[in-house]
Amino acid sequence: MPVINESEELIRRIYQITNDYQKGFDIQISQLLILGLERFNLDIGILSKIDGNQYTVLNCVTPEEVPLNAGDEFEFTSTYCEITCSAFGPVAIEHMGRHNKYASHPAYSAFGLESYIGIPIFVDDEVVGTLNFSSARPYDRKFESTDIDALKLMASWVEVEMIRRKQEDQLQVLNQKLEFQALNDPLTKIPNRRCLFKTLHADIERMKAASGKGSLALIDIDHFKRVNDTHGHQVGDEVLVKITEQLKNVVGSTDYLARFGGEEFVVWLPERELTERESVLKRLHECANEVKVAGNPLTVSIGVCHFDFDAINEDCRKTVLDDFISLADECLYEAKSQGRNCIVAKQFETVSSV
Ligand code: GH3
Ligand code: MG
Ligand code: MG
Repeated sequence: MPVINESEELIRRIYQITNDYQKGFDIQISQLLILGLERFNLDIGILSKIDGNQYTVLNCVTPEEVPLNAGDEFEFTSTYCEITCSAFGPVAIEHMGRHNKYASHPAYSAFGLESYIGIPIFVDDEVVGTLNFSSARPYDRKFESTDIDALKLMASWVEVEMIRRKQEDQLQVLNQKLEFQALNDPLTKIPNRRCLFKTLHADIERMKAASGKGSLALIDIDHFKRVNDTHGHQVGDEVLVKITEQLKNVVGSTDYLARFGGEEFVVWLPERELTERESVLKRLHECANEVKVAGNPLTVSIGVCHFDFDAINEDCRKTVLDDFISLADECLYEAKSQGRNCIVAKQFETVSSV
């Protein structure tokens, strides 16, 4: 392998590798290891991860006869990297067998590597691994300060990249969390009003094109204020969580349940024959009774808007979710005035009831 002595050339090569980010971290690291092997004229290049007493090979470049692979694990204390990490800095040894301190190191008897140059990798002031190069041959010259500088340069890129990737991961987790929070209700963990509008608008567009039909139901807990007033807000919250679980058990995988606000829920039942949807609505109505407050079953009133895009004329097809919700709300109001604990349903455009 050609020996690269010029530091300018080394910097140029590192720049090339780091700029090749579209190739991915693993390929970049392999290229960096190859560069190091050429630079130091050694045979084995390793980026390791250290966790407690576990030394894991993250990436390695080795001659064919050395059976080392990414994912291989060793006891940290039986590797030369233990020396490097204890030193908190670069370590270079030309001839391990003749070294007055390390000739007796367990790694020497285990692997018999004579020459070694390695450096700890720090992330957030903690040693997370090492970058190291070694060979079974003793080194044919002394390691010099320029070698150490080259090693430091390579390690610093690895560190920066690891920190960047760690931050990227943290940011991704945070983004997912924020996205969940933006679209889900914190108490019941089901979609909130915002998510409801987003999802149903899209589904309505799809159904318009396919002349679909379905039902939208507004479910409102009866006399919920009394629960709060009699047992406190905390119990009220628990009741909301419990009823959500009951409703979730009834709705199917193609249905959609959201918390509309307060003690009101929306259930979206796309497709299926009217009778099938009505049977789901009946079960939604009944499941509320499973929740007991001081031994008394909870009841709900349900207002339903049934719709069939095939029967809705072109003008009304501009109709959107708000109109379905308005009709369901009108039905809910009627259900409340009929004495609560019942379902009132109307067909959008053509009025009917069940
Ligand atoms: P109706 O049968 O007419 O629906 O009577 P109601 O008492 O259920 O209706 P009303 O709209 O008067 O009261 C709803 C109550 O729901 C009032 C509000 O304090 C309570 N509420 C809304 N959101 C929450 C919540 O997140 N937690 C708790 N514990 N209560 C809530
Ligand atoms: Mg209400
Ligand atoms: Mg209510």
